Amino acid sequence: MKLRLLVLGAGTAGTMIVNKLRKRLGVAEWDITVVDRDDVHPYQPGFLFLPFDIYSPDQINRPRHGFLPSGVDLVIGDVDVVDPDAQTVTLTDGRSLGYDYLVIASGTSPRPDQTPGMLDGQWRKSIFDFYTFDGSVALSQALKDFDHGRLVVHITDMPIKCPVAPLEFTFLADAWLREKGLRDRVELVYVTPLPGVFTKPIASDALGAMLAGRNITVESDFLVEHIDAETKTLVSYDEREVPFDLLVTIPLNMGADFVARSGLGNELNYVPVNKHTLQSTAHANIFAVGDSSDIPASKAGSVAHFSVEIFVENFLELIAGKPMTGAFDGHANCFIETGDRKGLLIDFNYDTEPLTGKFPLPVVGPMDLLKETWANHLGKLAFRWIYWNILLPGRRLPISSHMSMLGKIAPTASRTSGDKNTAPTPTSSNR
Ligand SMILES: Cc1cc2nc3c(=O)[nH]c(=O)nc-3n(C[C@H](O)[C@H](O)[C@H](O)COP(=O)(O)OP(=O)(O)OC[C@H]3O[C@@H](n4cnc5c(N)ncnc54)[C@H](O)[C@@H]3O)c2cc1C
Repeated sequence: MKLRLLVLGAGTAGTMIVNKLRKRLGVAEWDITVVDRDDVHPYQPGFLFLPFDIYSPDQINRPRHGFLPSGVDLVIGDVDVVDPDAQTVTLTDGRSLGYDYLVIASGTSPRPDQTPGMLDGQWRKSIFDFYTFDGSVALSQALKDFDHGRLVVHITDMPIKCPVAPLEFTFLADAWLREKGLRDRVELVYVTPLPGVFTKPIASDALGAMLAGRNITVESDFLVEHIDAETKTLVSYDEREVPFDLLVTIPLNMGADFVARSGLGNELNYVPVNKHTLQSTAHANIFAVGDSSDIPASKAGSVAHFSVEIFVENFLELIAGKPMTGAFDGHANCFIETGDRKGLLIDFNYDTEPLTGKFPLPVVGPMDLLKETWANHLGKLAFRWIYWNILLPGRRLPISSHMSMLGKIAPTASRTSGDKNTAPTPTSSNR
């Protein structure tokens, strides 16, 4: 009897996993199947660039099956429920798939339905998101038609995937409006549920100063209770109001509904796992990799990539009957586009917040950490090629999965990272 590995989700993490494991698991001993609801793989970081005409829609999507190796079955279908006792997964069309080992890689999605008023009347008229392909394309047109008023960029609640993306959107909007000669006719407002503009203190201070320098108002500690579509106003639980002419919102992000239906998730449908091995805390033959888990790291493609490398080696040890020796450290590495062809780079993990310095090598870099440079902008743009050609096919990048302190300048006084993006927020009563 062959053993069966079943992966739910052929996005960033799922695609990397099957590529890496197909090379390591004999075809005679192992069947590998991956399920996704469609055959379109979007390069999600590209959604940020569509509204500013930096990328065009045809540069974002590619067929999923083109990134899967031979010897991996792609099943197109919507996962309905996992039965961990029977070790089966049922799809919404009634098909059933058995497994010996299951990897949940179903990511996280924006849920505008979870905030009262978000979908009432103004959705895709004056309220937009850019966390979906359709949303980003629609916003692209709205931004071109917008020439004066209040442009509000808003985060509903944490955690969200790519927690720097709303900041990047704000910086790019500022640069776009300046270039068009419209900046003095537009009030730019950044509304966040966090006490600062980012989840980690040192980066939050640096990024907050950059917003202030660009004359962007920050409304912090703002937890939206509802949106009044008629008056075009965000209303918070503590009854503050933020009016808008154009709202660019990041709706509440949630894991897949099938995770909840299967009794495998927390209140935001993220799968509780051991944060070092990604093994489910409830079932030893189930793992959650990428945005679908509850690990206290950023939900980001870079985190998916580094954690997949650890997961694969651990998985090979597990099936060989050995203890898993790899420990994921929460390593995240993100370029932050800041407009005017510049960008920042941050590199951090569970224990170390983003610091200044050089990356990946001390002194020579060539990247600067937490500093706006043209090289970081080029790094951000180069990432799309790296994603399609190196990461997804499961090839190795010459960057360690574990965060390194090489080149980083440690802060003089010790500061805690205070990461609000890490844990599902119990205050999310807007669900
Ligand atoms: C605007 C934006 C900008 C970003 N920028 C960056 C960046 O600069 N750097 C970075 O590192 N990360 C960035 N990210 C985040 C990055 O794209 C994600 O963190 C990464 O894709 C997570 O990978 P994943 O495999 O966990 O989830 P995904 O890649 O989202 O894949 C999940 C898959 O599961 C499938 N699925 C879900 N539910 C079901 C179901 N019921 N049945 C069948 N299939 C299902 C989905 O169709 C999807 O293909 C950005 C994201 C966005 C939205």
